[in-house]
Amino acid sequence: MSLVEDPAVALLRDLVAIDSVNPSLTSGARGEAEVARRIAGELESIGLRVEIADAAPGRPNVVGVLEGRAPGRSLMFCGHTDTVGVSGMTRPFVPEIRDGRLYGRGAQDMKGGVAAMIGAVRRIVESGGLAQGRVIVAAVVDEEHASRGAEALVSTWRADAAVVTEPTALEVAVAHKGFQWIALETRGRAAHGSRPLDGRDAILRMGRVLARLESLDRRLQQGPAHPLLGTASLHASIIEGGHELSTYPARAALQYERRTLPGEPSDIALVEANAILAGLKHEDPAFEAEATHVFGRDAYEIDAASQLPALLTEAAKAAGCAATTAGMTFWTDAAILGAAGIPSVLFGPGGAGLHSLEEYVIVDDVCRCRDALANLARWWC
Ligand SMILES: [Zn+2]
Repeated sequence: MSLVEDPAVALLRDLVAIDSVNPSLTSGARGEAEVARRIAGELESIGLRVEIADAAPGRPNVVGVLEGRAPGRSLMFCGHTDTVGVSGMTRPFVPEIRDGRLYGRGAQDMKGGVAAMIGAVRRIVESGGLAQGRVIVAAVVDEEHASRGAEALVSTWRADAAVVTEPTALEVAVAHKGFQWIALETRGRAAHGSRPLDGRDAILRMGRVLARLESLDRRLQQGPAHPLLGTASLHASIIEGGHELSTYPARAALQYERRTLPGEPSDIALVEANAILAGLKHEDPAFEAEATHVFGRDAYEIDAASQLPALLTEAAKAAGCAATTAGMTFWTDAAILGAAGIPSVLFGPGGAGLHSLEEYVIVDDVCRCRDALANLARWWC
């Protein structure tokens, strides 16, 4: 059978051909409704029980359930159906296979993983069905923005374990970093540039903050490293302030991001920011600034006692993957599943160019991922 005739690859082509750009990222974008219909149809054609439910208006999650012949453990496969925007891409929704790679928006992030997890249940059904337990296939919306799909999923669905099929190059990823966003404002006093006694420069005051943040970042990057994720870090992202050359700026505003490691508290960035501001205030009582937490997501690491990573590693090796253990730097829905009590790992096909102008997934990886997931379901459930 040639690669193009493989049902998982045919499904992947269809998924990439359907525009499912996240409308929270690109206003007016199509969203996930059409791709959800295609996935629901595929799951029904395989013989699964399918539920479609809006996680947000017009943005449906699709959940398919494959029941085993006897009771057993449950395993969830979870992937997101939205993609980031396509501006600058020439043919984002024309899936094209060249040199074993399938190109198009979402090919790697993460329609390749979605096609693999659906292909896995097809394999199981076509080879006689599931002996015991159940497999839950969840295609969720909005991961690229606020993960409303995964939040809605865990409000109604539970499983004994989950594999999130984000692209890991067929490595078994057991941890990923989190992030916290901080907005910080320094306040000064506007005055004519010739009147230093009246003016108070908010931008130079922000400079003091930036110097402290830089040394905090240095400490973080010299601090204890997670064996798979490296160290925590921070970077200044956006800065603004001032109006005109001849005026003391009354205000400067900074937004920065702190990347976190598993186990770091959800408010660590704000605690650090407030400590820096308190130190600066102590040195200069006229220093005025305020920090606020904008948004954040915790890092994730599966419980060391879970059997899931070892079993997936075996299942993946049996499917021809090297399946080394890894950590991912980027945040994923696995953290939401994990926080809801579903031990989760990440495992998906390789490729390149996620969120960039040329994105592809390795077609053979999609098939090996599919085979590994089918093995895992048979062994886990
Ligand atoms: Zn993704």
